[in-house]
Amino acid sequence: MVLRLRKSKKYYTKTFGCYANEVDSDYIAGLLEDLGFSELKKKGRNETEEIEYALKNADILVINSCSVRQKSEDKVYGIGKMIKNNPKARAKVVLTGCMVGSVTGDRKRFSEKQLKMKTKDFDGYFPPSDIKSFLTVLRELNLISKDLFFDKKGLKRRQRDKNHAYVNVSYGCDNFCSYCVVPYSRGCEVSRSKKEILEEIKCLVEKGVCDFTFCGQNVNSWGLSMEEKFKVRSAGRKDTDNKKQSKLPFAQLLREIHNIKEINNIDFISSNPFDFTQDLVDVLKLPKISNYVHIAVQSGNNKILKAMNRRHTSEEFVNLVERIRKVRPGIEIGTDIIVGFPGETREQFMDTAKLIEKVKFSVAFISMYSSRKGTFAEINLKDDVPLKEKKWRHMYLTKEWRKNKPKVKSNYSHSRWVSSE
Ligand code: SF4
Repeated sequence: MVLRLRKSKKYYTKTFGCYANEVDSDYIAGLLEDLGFSELKKKGRNETEEIEYALKNADILVINSCSVRQKSEDKVYGIGKMIKNNPKARAKVVLTGCMVGSVTGDRKRFSEKQLKMKTKDFDGYFPPSDIKSFLTVLRELNLISKDLFFDKKGLKRRQRDKNHAYVNVSYGCDNFCSYCVVPYSRGCEVSRSKKEILEEIKCLVEKGVCDFTFCGQNVNSWGLSMEEKFKVRSAGRKDTDNKKQSKLPFAQLLREIHNIKEINNIDFISSNPFDFTQDLVDVLKLPKISNYVHIAVQSGNNKILKAMNRRHTSEEFVNLVERIRKVRPGIEIGTDIIVGFPGETREQFMDTAKLIEKVKFSVAFISMYSSRKGTFAEINLKDDVPLKEKKWRHMYLTKEWRKNKPKVKSNYSHSRWVSSE
């Protein structure tokens, strides 16, 4: 139950990064609408015009930031300059997302003071894991009165697509791949309860949603304790034909969701190869499971995978793809790859090109390694591949991927995966 504003104020959310931020922005928008704010319509031919317009016309602009690459954080610092240089800016600008997550909680990449120094023109901050604190920020900015409150249980979300919705099954990550900011920016891996997930699905199904994407940084390990994760992973490494691999709670959850008759399509992001057991491979046979699966490989060279602190080898990845194609011939497979990781030689990079040739990915998000402050790689490894070489590897791999990409026409909406960094 929420007490509402007397006069409607306008809000605008600008989201950078992946689906996790998109889902959070929908909850932020839902809260603001519950409080009586209405959404300002997007205007502008490009991102700069869009933000300038929101600065001039909204009462509150929420920037949901991404930290995955330096470029993503630089965009937020650029917004600070836009606020400063725009005399007509009237919106209160509040920052959330991974940049705020990176300076709060137990796992910090840099200090709150440093972030605030670099974003002096912003009016408020709240971490993505604590939407309740957004209410405090709204009060401090005099955008709502002191007696407005909300009940987290009844938290609504904005629905942008009448048929499709992203639903989080877990938050955060404990894997600490050496290049990645997520374990810091999103905190410890926490699985939502089955009850909570099923209630959210029920609610969305009642509104007509029939196509679901289940999200988490590591969906496959949903519902597993640390000890269970360890068992799953060591079984995966020892038993290459994977017959003895463990049952996964996530596979069972998908089977249950598959039985909901109103649902006609299911997919999930993000999957890591080291938790993708045969139990989950078998789920891919189910007819409502999408014909696309995204599994990050990151590199085709085992030495580099080890330096990345990934828990799989190139051979295990290829074996996984073979098993997937055996149960679901024709399934599209997508991946993420980093080129120019510290210490990566040309020869090691060529192993990734060979892997691309072998696996034939339908989608490949290829990125050049960018050192992220506070990560293991930034602290301990030298970013020694020259930019020119990184660019060459990026170009070469993109060409190889295109050359080897399956020629079949896809009926899957890959735009669901494209991030807006
Ligand atoms: S699994 Fe690795 S790459 Fe994925 S979010 Fe966790 S730490 Fe980052």
